[in-house]
Amino acid sequence: SLRAGIVGLPNVGKSTLFNAVVENGKAQAANFPFCTIEPNVGIVAVPDPRLNVLSELSKSQRAVPASIEFVDIAGLVKGASQGEGLGNKFLSHIREVDSILQVVRCFEDNDIVHVSGKVDPKSDIEVINLELVLSDLDQVEKRMEKLKKGRAKDSQSKMKEEAEKTALEKIQQALMDGKPARSVPLTDFQNDAVKHLCLLTMKPVIYVANVAESDVADPGSNPHVKDVMNLASDLQSGLITISAQVEAELNELPPEERIEYLKSLGVDESGLGNLIRATYSLLGLRTYFTSGEKETKAWTIQSGMTAPQAAGVIHSDFERGFIRAETVAYKDFVSAGSFAAAREKGLLRSEGKDYVVQEGDVMLFRFNV
Ligand code: GDP
Repeated sequence: SLRAGIVGLPNVGKSTLFNAVVENGKAQAANFPFCTIEPNVGIVAVPDPRLNVLSELSKSQRAVPASIEFVDIAGLVKGASQGEGLGNKFLSHIREVDSILQVVRCFEDNDIVHVSGKVDPKSDIEVINLELVLSDLDQVEKRMEKLKKGRAKDSQSKMKEEAEKTALEKIQQALMDGKPARSVPLTDFQNDAVKHLCLLTMKPVIYVANVAESDVADPGSNPHVKDVMNLASDLQSGLITISAQVEAELNELPPEERIEYLKSLGVDESGLGNLIRATYSLLGLRTYFTSGEKETKAWTIQSGMTAPQAAGVIHSDFERGFIRAETVAYKDFVSAGSFAAAREKGLLRSEGKDYVVQEGDVMLFRFNV
């Protein structure tokens, strides 16, 4: 599944948020194998009411939601790229995730020390960005040194090396200006050529503004949140506001008291569902379903994927042997009630290899083995 790394300076609420996400996931998905794999890795289901609707219509034995893996990555401090704190170990953990959730402290609390003395989201974000930029710059320069030797033998690998060199020069310039690698416009071919470096500043970032419980009802009125909002939009990144503390407290309450507590704060639902859904959608992810007697399952794909690529998410054999995909839109499946009924009503389409899968498609793949 998709991996999202939770990062941030010390004492901003990373662990509180991580634990809340995992505890809540366990409670919501008692019959699914979602759990904490390692102390700092938890898998949670992406809440989706469509899953149960389909599962009931198909009388499936089980319903399997899409999932996201959250990783709590502690240890980022100023100087990490130079080996301070856990330094490089921390950065190598970030290399392995698909996206970064950066928790930014927007709550005031004199009892909880802020590493730089005061709550200042702009400076926190800059500190972290700088570490990621410096680490990437180091990687890029090492790689450029290697490429100078020009080991490519055939013309195809020479072309790839050239593309990589061109891309790296552009990326190096951006990094030296303090800008992330993802801000550099690259061709698909150049993108592919630098992918193997897993640059940290290539990954999509979502800022998570952690607010006090008094701000949950109207986070926009907190000036720190406004700062993060402006920065997120400048950096073309997503923004979510949440109170990690509130989420942690909700998990401790018996279910019947949770609604009361949320009401007293002026909101009607926990922020975690929103966090999970937003992480999913801000990353340009889409869901399609397979549905039968054995199971109904939500599958995660990147927006723009074709039917064979989507089939490949289930199994690479499905992609290789792809023939066609019986496809029906979610609402049409629901109105018809089954694949067979959808076919009778002319709502089932037979799609070929160029079909771009749409959000909510219910699909049945035909393939050669
Ligand atoms: P980490 O170092 O970023 O993982 O931070 P922690 O999750 O360990 O939180 C540091 C401290 O801040 C803990 O004592 C938390 O209880 C507290 N904390 C986290 N979120 C909030 C919040 O929204 N409001 C307040 N007042 N305290 C919080």
